[in-house]
Amino acid sequence: MKTTHVEIIGGGIAGLTAALAFAKQGASVCVSERAQALTEVGAGLQITPNAGRALVALGVWDALVARGVVARAVVPMDGISGRVVTRFDLSGQSPNYLFLHRASLIEVLAEAAMKASVVVKLGQVPDLDDLPPHDLLIGAEGLRSELRGRLNAQSDPFFTGQVAWRAIVPHEAAAEAQIWMMPRQHVVTYPLSGGRFNIVAVQERSEWAAEGWSHADDPAHLRAAFAGAAPELRAILEKVGQVNLWGLFRHPVADNWVGEKTAILGDAAHPTLPFLAQGANLAIEDAYVLARSCASGDIKVGLQIFENARKSRVKRAIEAANSNARNYHLSGVQRHVAFAGLKVLGAVAPNAFLNRLSWLYDHDVTA
Ligand SMILES: Cc1cc2nc3c(=O)[nH]c(=O)nc-3n(C[C@H](O)[C@H](O)[C@H](O)COP(=O)(O)OP(=O)(O)OC[C@H]3O[C@@H](n4cnc5c(N)ncnc54)[C@H](O)[C@@H]3O)c2cc1C
Repeated sequence: MKTTHVEIIGGGIAGLTAALAFAKQGASVCVSERAQALTEVGAGLQITPNAGRALVALGVWDALVARGVVARAVVPMDGISGRVVTRFDLSGQSPNYLFLHRASLIEVLAEAAMKASVVVKLGQVPDLDDLPPHDLLIGAEGLRSELRGRLNAQSDPFFTGQVAWRAIVPHEAAAEAQIWMMPRQHVVTYPLSGGRFNIVAVQERSEWAAEGWSHADDPAHLRAAFAGAAPELRAILEKVGQVNLWGLFRHPVADNWVGEKTAILGDAAHPTLPFLAQGANLAIEDAYVLARSCASGDIKVGLQIFENARKSRVKRAIEAANSNARNYHLSGVQRHVAFAGLKVLGAVAPNAFLNRLSWLYDHDVTA
């Protein structure tokens, strides 16, 4: 059978996962990445079991676990008093729920892809009209995808009225994600390997901030925004030496994900807000499903199967992420009622958190 040749634009999480998945099926694959080196701006990711299953099937799971921290629980906190509201157990997940540095994920995926004979060209922004002959072109260029623009009418993102800071500090902590909830703001913290600690702090505000993850801000702004937080949280924020600030924008899910021999996936097709920690997880799922759908060699049919399999699931995850921000930022009576409800839930139904998200975490793209 003729070897399928796949050109991929973008060597981020979606692009490298797709490259590995196609190469493992015997395709010849070339990835073009704009950056001069495959290093990621430092930040943490939560890899949930739904994406974990694809990573197990692709043979990279053990390498990721070795570089990550296996999560034991998600702990909603009262961000003002510092009291634990409840504790949702994550141990016993299969595969494990993992805290991982983005750079580790990129490193492991790239290494495995190159071992599977994927050609990775760095410092390349190819002209889409002047590509080598190929059977399939994949746009994995993230937020500002040129291929998305070719497959879809232009759609403008809108500012959600929320900004987020992201930082990593030296700090030893239990293997738990803590969600520090406060009126109109929240902070998510969790440990990474090597004594690093990941912080994402979100605040509602009308003042616009630029989209993108690498805009530096003064750590004093972050500390001032959370001056009313519990002393334990403020002590963690005191450790921040470098911080990035970005505006959170909502982007519509692309109407068209595929053309005759083209596909977009990951953030190129459906950027999501970080409130369900699914952007990277959905990108990994997409990449795996795209390769599987095209495994028969009939690319045209495979692309349709891919789009049909993915769209409604991705939309559901994005809507769930959108509503989480509201739940974290309650104030007044609503806040007390919600905390009391969470407390009861944690006590009488410790599996409630996982049950509520079983449609997300139990999904198996390899089945
Ligand atoms: C604060 C924050 C926290 C997050 N936490 C989580 C989390 O816990 N769990 C989770 O699952 N997700 C998380 N995400 C989301 C996740 O990081 C993204 O959804 C994911 O990285 C998308 O991957 P991607 O490969 O589609 O795009 P990207 O990672 O953006 O990769 C695109 C790549 O394409 C390259 N590129 C772009 N244009 C071109 C071009 N023309 N030619 C060549 N190369 C090009 C870029 O340089 C880049 O390397 C978080 C996001 C944020 C902002």
